[in-house]
This record gives sequence, C-alpha cells and structure tokens, in this order.
Amino acid sequence: MLIGIDLGTTNSLAAVFRNGKAEIIPNRLGKQLTPSVVSVDENDRILIGETAREYGYLHPERTARVFKRAMGTEKEYVLGGMKFSPEELSGFVLRSLKEDAEVYLKEEVTQAIISVPAYFNDMQRKATKKAGELAGLEVVRIINEPTASAIAYGVGEKGVNERCMVFDLGGGTFDVTVLEYYKNIMEVYAIAGDNFLGGEDFTNLLVQMFLRRTFLTNRVIDNVSLNYLYKAAEEAKCQFSNSDVAVVRINLFNQHYEESFTREEYEKEAQELLEKLRKPMEKSLRDAKITLEDLDRIILVGGATRLPLVRSYVKKITGLSPEYSVDPDTSVAIGAALQCAMKERQKEIEEVILTDVCPFTLGTEVVRDNGSFTEPGYYLPIIERNTVIPVSKTQTVYTAYDDQKYVRVKVLQGESHLAKNNLQLGELTVDVPVGPKGKEAIEITYTYDVNALLQVEVKVLSTGEQKEMIIQKQEKKISEEEAKARMEKLAYLKQNPREEEENTLAFLRANRMYEEAMGEDKQKIEEKLNEFDDALNHKTHLEIDVARKRLLDLLDEMEEENYSIFPA
Ligand code: AMP
Repeated sequence: MLIGIDLGTTNSLAAVFRNGKAEIIPNRLGKQLTPSVVSVDENDRILIGETAREYGYLHPERTARVFKRAMGTEKEYVLGGMKFSPEELSGFVLRSLKEDAEVYLKEEVTQAIISVPAYFNDMQRKATKKAGELAGLEVVRIINEPTASAIAYGVGEKGVNERCMVFDLGGGTFDVTVLEYYKNIMEVYAIAGDNFLGGEDFTNLLVQMFLRRTFLTNRVIDNVSLNYLYKAAEEAKCQFSNSDVAVVRINLFNQHYEESFTREEYEKEAQELLEKLRKPMEKSLRDAKITLEDLDRIILVGGATRLPLVRSYVKKITGLSPEYSVDPDTSVAIGAALQCAMKERQKEIEEVILTDVCPFTLGTEVVRDNGSFTEPGYYLPIIERNTVIPVSKTQTVYTAYDDQKYVRVKVLQGESHLAKNNLQLGELTVDVPVGPKGKEAIEITYTYDVNALLQVEVKVLSTGEQKEMIIQKQEKKISEEEAKARMEKLAYLKQNPREEEENTLAFLRANRMYEEAMGEDKQKIEEKLNEFDDALNHKTHLEIDVARKRLLDLLDEMEEENYSIFPA
C-alpha cells in the first residue's frame, strides 16, 4: 500500500487515497498530527511523537526537535549517550507513521510519497529518501510541499493551465512559491521566503502589547512566567479567527490579568510585520519573470494564515482573493495522497505530472572527425544531468563513413566523455541510403519522464524511416501499453512552441499590424515582438505565455484606439 506523508519540521502526518478521496490517517492517539520529536529515555527506550514531546519538557537533553532543518548535513544528535543522524531521527518519525497507518488501514504499508520544502537540494532530498528506507518504506517519489498544497487545492484538476502562488506562513518561517500547471505538468518557477518570520512573531507582538498595556515593560520577568505569557498570548491570537477581540488571561506576580485587544488595535500594531510579507512575494514574482496580473490563484497554507489580518493583507496587496478552504495543517499530506492516486493511476483522478531533475546524463556514442581521420567511441550527451524533467531533446548526427549502410544508436547513461565508460541501456539500428560520409542526417530524440521512462526515437531524415523504443529504468516495470500512454502525454514536449497554434496566430497578427503601423506604434510592436521571439527561442512555457500575453495586450490596445477614431 502507498501513502502520502508530510514530514514536517514541527509535526508530521500521513494521508491515504481510498474510496475516491484523500483521507488523513489518525495516529495511535487518534490525532492527525504526530510531533516530529524523538527522545531516548533513561531505559534507552526510543520515544516518538507526543510522548517524546512531553518527555522533552523535562528532559530536553535527551530529546531532538526540528531535525528536519539538519537533513542532508553531518550533524549528530547525542541523546542519552546514543548518536543519531537527522535521517535516523526522521526515520523514527516515519516508522511511527507507517505503523499507525498499518493499524488504521489494516494493511501493510510498503511505499510512500514524502513531501519536502521546494528549496531542499539534492542532498536533502536524498536524505529524506534514506529516512524512508530506514523506516522500511520505499519512497516512490518526493513531492515539493507547495506543489502538494496546490494539488490539494485542485490546481490542474480541470486540465486548464494555471499559475499560482503558494503563500506558506508557518510558526517560524515564511515561504512563497510560484508554480505553473501547464499541459498536465506542474512546475515550480520561483521560491522566496524569510526564515525569520512566522506566526510566532505575531504572538510576540501581542505579548509586547500586553506588557505595554499593563506597564510591565520594564519589569524583569523570569523565563517560566514569560513562557506562560507567551502561551496565553498564543491562545488569544487564535481568538481573532472568529472574534473581533482577543483576551489575554494570565496570573502574573500574584495578580490576575485579563486584557482585551481589538482586531483594529492589533492590526495597527502589526503593520510592520505585515509589510515584511511583501518582499518575498515580490521577489518570487520577479524571479519567475511574471507580474501579479499573470497570476491566476493565490493559495494560503501554514497555520498563521488563519489570522484574518494576514488574509486581508494578502488580498489588499495582490488584489486577488486568497484561497484558504483546505485546513492549512493538512493540505500538504492531502496533496501527497492525491499524488499517490495519480501515481497508481486511479481512474477517479487525472494525473498531474511533477517535475524533477535528471540525476545523470543520457546520451549516445558518436564518431569524432578531426579532419584527417575519424575516431570512434565518443559520448554525445543528449539530456544533460540536472535538466528539469520531463523533457524531450533532439540531436542530429550524420553518417561517419563513406558507403555506410546503417547507423547504430547506442543509448548510454553516464558522465564520461568516452562512451565505453558509460552504462549502455539499449540500442537501435536504422538503415541509411549509401552515399558519401556526412550526407545522411539522423535525428535522435530522447524523452525522459519522472517515472524513469526513457523513450528513444531515431529518424533518418532523407527516407523518413523511424524506429522507437521505450527503456524502463525503474525497478517496478509497467506494461508496454501503459508506458506508451505515459509517453503520449509528453508528446507536446517534442513540439516546437512556434508551431503551437496560439503562438503562430499571435506572431502572424503582430506581423500584420507591424506592417500597418507607423512611427512610435511600429516601434512598440517591434519591441514586444522581439521579446516574444526571444521567449520562443529558448524560454520556458511560462515566459512564452507571458511574452505572448504582453504582445497581445499591446495589439488589443492599439486596435481599440484605432476603432475609437471611428465611433460606431
Ligand atoms: P504551522 O507551522 O504551519 O503549524 O503553523 C504554526 C503557526 O500557526 C503558529 O504560529 C500558530 O500560532 C499559528 N496558528 C495556528 N492556528 C492559528 C489561528 N487560529 N489563528 C492564528 N494563528 C494560528
């Protein structure tokens, strides 16, 4: 059985897709959230989750928390004389979730899709996979947290292309991600954030307001009392979700305090914090090379987005209605469970393909001609390591010898410039008409997807003869028909964006209007046309879409102006 897991910094949880919907799996205590905390008690017993958290209040030196931040590093945690890596600690949490899921589902759980922050690098992702293995889980996929949230919100569900911003304000961190769903592929375009901004700052603000109101600002307060005050402020802050006033109730210095703060007062004081949310949002849009107008949706996740003032601030500065219908504690796990259903191709749900990077280079063997003689055995990369996948790339090679009768295309994986040092995955042979060397051109196309399916197509341009094969690199092979169906979904990757109808149309219209236009108008069209042309040459879908939209907006505007000269 396959489950989705949100392996969080503070809390973790699991979800499953069954009976046509995603469902949160309660833990052994009947709760949704399992704290990501591990302790080793005096009897060398390992405690996980809520028990570890409780134990940790009294024995912080035997307790590890927030180890997710150290994933992929050499950091060691020493608990009661035992040493643990961050992977091992995460592994304990994952094992606990796996066991709870097995009890709840009455079935063995062997596989998982686990979420990670979008900014996790390769090492951190590998460490997360390792943690899964340590827990006895095969990690069939790693999913970015914002991508999972977007899926939970149904981005891509209707098959329409959408661009969205995922705004994640947690307890101590703020992450903004710009994503695009384009022709069933979900891609992260930009990530920005602030590691020192979160719900805790909003609690702190209320603490400061309380201290000022009660004239306790200058009084020395011991740590224990301060903790109580913090807790009281935290509770009060949450009241704003369904009330216009928040009351901080606390006994301090043998006196009972009960201070009310209105939403208005709080909002006024919170301006500085709210302003801090703006920068990462702007940066993410800038990095994705789009503007607010290009965004279709904005999705709020993370506990602190329950604060009404955060919601209204986002609305105010973006002009978009932020979405928050899914419980922010569970959206990542729900999205991961939906991805499980997609991976298993459950028919209730259409697949959203995630992107990943290709961890190695895929290429073929070629002969090198140095002018006087030819040297065989060289490696020609076709899909370079770290390319975002799914991807389709084509290389053209030529016959290397006079009177060559056929061309053998070896499919290789590896990084060596010598073909023999790389791993051979397969081979295809095509016949070519005999002639002088270099006369016949052969197009080799590799299409590679996140499920480790590699499609190889070889085409002799002069005769049109074509051969094709699909190499399955994953452990669990799928049927040939299924592999073909998956590849068909990626067929558009092979298409030149210039040939896509909407792009061709925009280009033709712009050229027509350019010819008709004069002076400044001509210049304006030329400028936008050049940008569009540039995007079509080597930019992403997102950039092409944005450039096309800008060009069309200009053309619309000009047409409207012309019409207004001759009112109806
Ligand atoms: P997370 O890291 O996503 O679990 O978010 C934790 C943060 O969400 C903490 O700072 C909480 O104070 C905050 N939070 C949770 N519930 C609410 C609420 N109802 N109103 C305001 N903040 C909340």
